[in-house]
Amino acid sequence: MEDCIFCKIANKEEAAEIVYEDERVVAFKDIYPKAPVHILIVTKKHIHSANHIEPEDKELVGELFLVAKKVAKEQGVAETGYRLSFNVGRDAGQVVDHLHMHLLGGKKIPLA
Ligand code: 5GP
Ligand code: ZN
Repeated sequence: MEDCIFCKIANKEEAAEIVYEDERVVAFKDIYPKAPVHILIVTKKHIHSANHIEPEDKELVGELFLVAKKVAKEQGVAETGYRLSFNVGRDAGQVVDHLHMHLLGGKKIPLA
């Protein structure tokens, strides 16, 4: 999708510090990290938000969790703990309208 920063990162039109990639998912460091480990795990397919997930996307969305598990281990937070979250819409603070899972760890993560 045009003018979507996460589509551009997925297509290598914009730079990012990529920590994992396969055919359907890419994971990269958040540009403004809110914790020592802050990774965004993104579907390469443009899905606007969790509000826009369709039944046909269920396997793809499940892959985000498997990638999170792998990345958490690689980033050294699998044992200490981490939070996985999705912001959905403006009241939740979603600013990038392309489905992404936040993986936050490396310190105690306060709720919200
Ligand atoms: P949201 O608030 O939409 O759930 O999260 C969007 C996240 O994307 C924010 O934490 C923000 O710092 C991050 N972000 C926004 N633009 C970029 C970018 O161009 N590159 C990277 N690596 N992260 C970005
Ligand atoms: Zn997009």
